[in-house]
Amino acid sequence: VKESGRAGWRFFNEGLQEEAHLRLSISIGLRSALEKDEFYTVFQPIVDTRSSVVVGAELLLRWRSVAGEVSPATFIPVAEMNGSIVDIGYWTFKEACRTERRWHAQAGHDAPYVSFNMSTRQMADPKLVERFASIIEETGADPRRLLLEITETSLMADTNTNREIIDKMAGLGMRIAVDDFGTGYSSLSQLLRLNVDVLKIDKEFIQGIDTDPDSGTIVSALCRMSKSLNLSVVAEGVETQDQRNALRAFGCDSIQGYLFYRPMPADELLTAAANSRRA
Ligand code: C2E
Ligand code: CA
Ligand code: CA
Ligand code: CA
Repeated sequence: VKESGRAGWRFFNEGLQEEAHLRLSISIGLRSALEKDEFYTVFQPIVDTRSSVVVGAELLLRWRSVAGEVSPATFIPVAEMNGSIVDIGYWTFKEACRTERRWHAQAGHDAPYVSFNMSTRQMADPKLVERFASIIEETGADPRRLLLEITETSLMADTNTNREIIDKMAGLGMRIAVDDFGTGYSSLSQLLRLNVDVLKIDKEFIQGIDTDPDSGTIVSALCRMSKSLNLSVVAEGVETQDQRNALRAFGCDSIQGYLFYRPMPADELLTAAANSRRA
């Protein structure tokens, strides 16, 4: 028992050390990743639940580091911690704006809107609104075709400051989405005091629809309430036909998930969108 206990401890310890080491090398790598042009973007289509037509797409960040591809689930938390997320966030926003312009130039009114993520840390940057405004101006993007995703958890962190920031962002003309809705502990009524337009229901609830009756009840109630409050609902992580059918019955507006599309390069997206209209 003693032996295995010690071995277990050593294993645990090495695991921790390895993880700390990994985080450190990611942290160092992130500091030069922008200069070295190691980031790129992919876009995951968002479709209308009833017609399956592509109406928008979420920009998802990718990092090809010297050590290979690193998942955003791994590097975003590190970038939040070391602060590099702030500059990465401005780069990402500029990409979102440029993509909006390009799609609009190519597809006109049929161009999908561009959804993008903003992290908690970036919300605390005092220059945030000013810099977003100047990126919009510089790129000539149409802010009405941009959807800013902020996670429920970061929205609830400091409601008063956040309300101010969100009002200013909305003032720039962008729509605002609550991302990963359901994973935080806020009530819908708390959120509704904020100026938001879209609810993105977290994939945990969506994927629960198949297996857990409570998930279905929650999602159905969210869809109903959102409708009466004039909020648009996006279900994320939709992987099965059953989930899709349930969402259609609930009156959910849009769907994002592997059942329809995986994330893809920007230049493939307009083709997918055009095909979705022909189908
Ligand atoms: P998220 O904002 O919730 O983005 C959705 C994630 O779910 C994406 O993972 C997407 O590929 C994945 N997904 C979409 N459909 C399905 C599905 O049907 N099944 C499953 N299992 N997964 C699905 P990804 O690209 O790995 O991104 C992970 C997270 O990293 C994002 O979660 C977001 O929190 C963060 N992230 C990604 N790009 C950015 C960015 O530009 N800025 C910031 N701040 N965070 C980002
Ligand atoms: Ca998101
Ligand atoms: Ca999400
Ligand atoms: Ca999520």
